[in-house]
Amino acid sequence: MELRIFSLGPLLTNTYLLKTKLKNGEYEAVVIDPAEKCAELNGLLKDCKEVKVLLTHGHFDHIMGVNYLKELFNAKVYISKKDEAMLTNPKQNFGSAFGFNNEVITPTNFVKDSDKIKFGDTEITVLETPGHTKGSVSYLINNMLFCGDLIFKNSIGRSDLGGNKEDYKNTLKKLKEEKRNFVIYPGHGEKTELNYEKTYNIYLK
Ligand SMILES: [Zn+2]
Repeated sequence: MELRIFSLGPLLTNTYLLKTKLKNGEYEAVVIDPAEKCAELNGLLKDCKEVKVLLTHGHFDHIMGVNYLKELFNAKVYISKKDEAMLTNPKQNFGSAFGFNNEVITPTNFVKDSDKIKFGDTEITVLETPGHTKGSVSYLINNMLFCGDLIFKNSIGRSDLGGNKEDYKNTLKKLKEEKRNFVIYPGHGEKTELNYEKTYNIYLK
């Protein structure tokens, strides 16, 4: 499995590409939070039989590349039902507050806690991790956790842009109790590890 990271869009959002080769020689790809149209990303998707877009949440800076991937690769788009309005009603994804008016995006699949999404010969587990937004989810692939704006290195996301403080507390509590160590790939900034954050991040101590 190949992992590529692109820092895209006005808020330098991390767009993650995972690409895997099937036994028959074909490729499949998953793009997490496509933040902008990106020629290099599109080039890497050209030989893929199937492209899935997995959204961690509906904020404008995580979704501005979605429609390109739908048009070019007929990509399926996964998001929590609780964040659907941020895609279908652009006023709700806070783009206008930052001077961006997104097109309407129509999701194709809704995800909920513990869902499994097939990806090559492995699968991706959906974890509901609300707080930053009501419908924030994380995607777990092997030991890699793609968590959107839930956790950043030494910090966490905001709860005042469609999120909820109580939800956030509960989600962080669950992560504190998690026994496994994940490599965390956040929506902005560099990657980190859950065990590192449990030691150094004041929100996870
Ligand atoms: Zn966000």
